[in-house]
Amino acid sequence: MNVLITGANRGIGLQLAKQYAESGAKVFATCRKPSAELERSKVEIISNIDVAAPDAPQQISQALGDEKIDLLINNAGILTRETLDDAPAEDIQQQFKVNALAPLMITLGLLPHLNKHAKVAMITSRMGSLTDNGSGGYYGYRMSKAALNAAGVSLARDLKDHGIAVALLHPGYVQTDMVNNTGDISAAESAQRLRQRIDELSMANSGTFWHSNGEVLPW
Ligand code: NDP
Repeated sequence: MNVLITGANRGIGLQLAKQYAESGAKVFATCRKPSAELERSKVEIISNIDVAAPDAPQQISQALGDEKIDLLINNAGILTRETLDDAPAEDIQQQFKVNALAPLMITLGLLPHLNKHAKVAMITSRMGSLTDNGSGGYYGYRMSKAALNAAGVSLARDLKDHGIAVALLHPGYVQTDMVNNTGDISAAESAQRLRQRIDELSMANSGTFWHSNGEVLPW
């Protein structure tokens, strides 16, 4: 099995890359700059990939050459914390680019590399759930993850005829740099749970918004 993961140099992406490689998959790990831990892993590193760059899909495609992909994981993401009093438009736009637009453009750009029966996993967040928003704030992050969810559902519908299933996966509250290592579970534990959900992903449940613990989340 060939797996491609974006933002694989640290956090959840790194653990996903390591675990898929340990399970015997061939892993293409994209990043801006590889970490020492990624360099030590048994993966093919595709570096200098800023997912928000307009030519990122083309750069990844070129690096893949003739290689096909069975599982694409759009993992790279950013979080800035806007409030009612402090919500810079540039920060909101950047989150849109990285969290919503990039996963869509990378998926579309890599379609020629996706095998029939390939799977696409979007690492989203329950903070993109409108129903679940009890605390407000985080304008750019919430808006961008809600937009990612919308893109994922359209992709799930549009890729049915290609035999490609798409999941929207919330990793849990995970101890990574993004949340200053607060969080309920380790990145390794989250990666394990995400892999279980990806195993369960099928054409029948394509388009589902899942918590990594298996719970189906409200939009
Ligand atoms: P980290 O901050 O630890 O890692 C983020 C990763 O995304 C890094 O590899 C980073 O690379 C990469 N990245 C960010 N911007 C870009 C860019 N423009 N181009 C390429 N790579 C980029 O966060 P997590 O591991 O926690 O996050 C992974 C995913 O999980 C994200 O989509 C996040 O929104 C989601 N998530 C995380 C939660 C948590 O509790 N941690 C909860 C819900 C969702 P670099 O080192 O170059 O910055």
